[in-house]
Amino acid sequence: MLNFELYNPTNLVFGKGQIAKISELIPKDAKVLITFGGGSIFKNGVYDQVRESLHGYDVTEFGGIEPNPRYETLMKAVEIIREKKLDFILAVGGGSVIDGTKFISAAVKFDGNPMEILHKRLLIKDLSQVVPFATVLTLPATASEMNSGAVITINETQEKLSFGGSALFPKFSICDPQVVSSLPKRQIQNGIVDAFTHVFEQYLTFPHDALLQDRFSEGILQTLIEIGPKVVENPTDYKLASNYMWSCTMALNGLIQKGVPSDWATHMIGHELTALFEIDHARTLAIIGPNLYRVMFETKKEKLAQYGKRVWNIADGSVEEMANQAIEKTVAFFHTMGMQTKLSEYTPDFEKTADFVVNRFQERGWKALGEKQNITPEKVKEIVEMSY
Ligand code: NAP
Ligand code: FE
Repeated sequence: MLNFELYNPTNLVFGKGQIAKISELIPKDAKVLITFGGGSIFKNGVYDQVRESLHGYDVTEFGGIEPNPRYETLMKAVEIIREKKLDFILAVGGGSVIDGTKFISAAVKFDGNPMEILHKRLLIKDLSQVVPFATVLTLPATASEMNSGAVITINETQEKLSFGGSALFPKFSICDPQVVSSLPKRQIQNGIVDAFTHVFEQYLTFPHDALLQDRFSEGILQTLIEIGPKVVENPTDYKLASNYMWSCTMALNGLIQKGVPSDWATHMIGHELTALFEIDHARTLAIIGPNLYRVMFETKKEKLAQYGKRVWNIADGSVEEMANQAIEKTVAFFHTMGMQTKLSEYTPDFEKTADFVVNRFQERGWKALGEKQNITPEKVKEIVEMSY
């Protein structure tokens, strides 16, 4: 097992009716900015619950954070916080609102052009340099509610860039699974596939001798397979909704990543597809992931075979046969979850994508990706072309 430090200061408050606890968790004298997205919180009652709990607080609101949050939009919130001297942010939404809030938190006190946070991928570690924030999660998917990473899109340059750091864990996150009941099917499908791929990026890696982390990962994958199709059809079922929500948090709150190498190449390539074509994040992962495993088969096959055996109960065959079957099972599961797995099913303009992605990576000086740093530009080109 690799050496590791386990640090996760987020107070996760999980369960029915927990939004009412906000007032116990934010200091009474705080000047709060509520951040949210396109308005779903007004329709499903979450906004009312949040405002009720914040009764008596000094509150300002900032809405309109887009899916794949935009730098340009977030900078408007930064200005409001600076102008009104606000000192706490409450993100109410899915991964986009939470990620956007992490950027706002880091940008307010940033000495210089906040664009550098993204372009230089700065590590934000100093708690005195961020505005404290918390979240009310409305969409289980990203685990942004319990991690310190974020992904931000810059409109002007069509870039989607990740950053983070230990100062960017939410102070607390309220996870009430009842929010799942108002989610469109497409968003639940996205959530399941995003979480599934988060596990892959930390589990299908090599060398990997963390036996307990393997079992955690396999447990999350099995749970997502068991409940995924059901929760899409029955989002008001609390048992399904609560297990869906907790599985997504556990997939990327850092626990299964401890002591193991992680990959993230599927995400890095996927971000380019979203930046180029506005394809939902999870759907880009369903396009790229299986082809990445096909192209990197020699590196990944032992672990793919273990995954096939333990998660899909594939009983017989050579390592290669079991690994191949495991990839096919995964693609079939993604289809069950409403994913299309070819780029050409989303856009007619796919043909130059591989060259574009490779150029982008080279501009950033990325020589290779993956846990073994063997996903070279040539491999990236092959993976993306296989995905057309
Ligand atoms: P999202 O972009 O936050 O939300 C997608 C849509 O779902 C929005 O239109 C939103 O509407 C709606 N929605 C959210 N909650 C709802 C509810 N309870 N009822 C009805 N509609 C609801 O989706 P996401 O998948 O959570 O986040 C995706 C973003 O996170 C991407 O940018 C991705 O790159 C990033 N990401 C981050 C991490 C991380 O570790 N930080 C990991 C993976 C992905 P409103 O806008 O109206 O609320
Ligand atoms: Fe993701």
